[in-house]
Amino acid sequence: MSPLKNLTIKSFHEGLVAKKFSALEATQAFFEHIKESDKSIGAYLSLNEENAIKESEKVDLALAKGEDLGPLAGVPMAIKDNILIKNLPATAGSRSLEGYLASYDAGVITKLKKERAIFLGKTNLDEFAMGSSTENSGFHLTRNPHDPERVPGGSSGGSVAAVASDQAVAALGSDTGGSIRQPAGFCGVVGLKTTYGSVSRSGLIAMASSLDQIGPITKTVEDAAVLFKAIAGGDQMDSTNAGFGYGDELTSLNLNEVRSLKIGVPDEYFADGLEEGVKVALQKTIDDLKSLRITFKKISLPHTKYALSVYYVIMPAEVSSNLARFDCIRYSRIKNSAEGVSNVKDIYFKHRGDGFGAETKRRIILGTFVLSSGYYDAYYEKAQRVRSLIKNDFDEAFGEVDVILTPVSPTRAFKIGERVSDPLSMYLSDILTIPANLAGLPAISIPVRTREPYSRDNLPIGFQLIGKHFREADILGLGQIYEKMCR
Ligand code: GLN
Repeated sequence: MSPLKNLTIKSFHEGLVAKKFSALEATQAFFEHIKESDKSIGAYLSLNEENAIKESEKVDLALAKGEDLGPLAGVPMAIKDNILIKNLPATAGSRSLEGYLASYDAGVITKLKKERAIFLGKTNLDEFAMGSSTENSGFHLTRNPHDPERVPGGSSGGSVAAVASDQAVAALGSDTGGSIRQPAGFCGVVGLKTTYGSVSRSGLIAMASSLDQIGPITKTVEDAAVLFKAIAGGDQMDSTNAGFGYGDELTSLNLNEVRSLKIGVPDEYFADGLEEGVKVALQKTIDDLKSLRITFKKISLPHTKYALSVYYVIMPAEVSSNLARFDCIRYSRIKNSAEGVSNVKDIYFKHRGDGFGAETKRRIILGTFVLSSGYYDAYYEKAQRVRSLIKNDFDEAFGEVDVILTPVSPTRAFKIGERVSDPLSMYLSDILTIPANLAGLPAISIPVRTREPYSRDNLPIGFQLIGKHFREADILGLGQIYEKMCR
């Protein structure tokens, strides 16, 4: 097997059909590499070796029979552990779900199984996807492959670290406020938050249902397009799904078509608090794109300053109601949760008390508070109104421009332990990603690749492209042109 390093979905497919390696060889090589390198990274929570081997043998058989294989056949993938794969663990990073096995496949998994993708294992995350560093996992830390002293970002830190350290060719994550894009930015890979309603949420352990979306994590923008096309589209199990898929426009935009897109740069996203290195990297990206004769325009999104506050009202409200189902009676490894307690309330106290971490409890309490009668109007309802203003800002901006370019996070990856005890400083790392979730827009995080180094320590920095609803083609097209230019 050729080195796994830099293997993309595209180069994997080419190698497989040219018989440079078999799907089985590839899968085995990935497990070997994972067993060696994951001791120091901690990307995976559980491995799916036996099944993966079996499935890759089937891919080889199909190839030997001369069947036409799609671009994802045999591709070794990592799946965030809040996405269900039938009969495999699904902990969502919570001790409360330790030992639970999923009873059905998520909508995206059904689609990927048809494509014959290979699932190597389930990856680490902040408990129930709540966090920005993967330090809130109930199980273990994940380290940034670029610097083991630093966090990979979160909550999809495991999926992102797996791709960044060649422990998977591609991965799936979920993004409620930035959980795909922020870690992708921290680890130097591509992460796509899809338009709300474009990808089925069936079988995604819900965090905040009006914000959650599943999306691809890959090494290139082109790969993100291929994976997104495969997972997008109708699913009767998700009533918020738009019901239509995407076509070749995701990979076919040429330079002239990209030149017809106008890019907006919002002042509010370049305000105080942005690390100097991030500012410099973003300016270089803008200059590089301008050199392709792409047009830029300054725009304003005036309600951006309320986005974080709005998010931290609406999100915990939805969390508190979604997490009510985890009563430690259903979905539990505990055989007899009634043992040693005399009533239902005590079961909740004991087992939810033990099973949930501090951040999960904090958000349940916050959410219950903002939904309680007497506070509902003042907090929850008001937040919903301001959410509409934030969405209106985008609608107006998209009257003038087609794509919006911003940084992904105000800083580069921070040190492990640096922010865990200060929730507010942790929350601030999502200040630039949250607005796209509130407005339901597609947004992608792409590593800045300047010709000259843009920072002393070379920690990755991402830039974000936000598109119009269901116009993933624009941000993916622009991203692919940028990628070609940097090659
Ligand atoms: N970091 C954000 C939070 O903790 C976003 C999480 C996410 O997107 N799942 O809420």
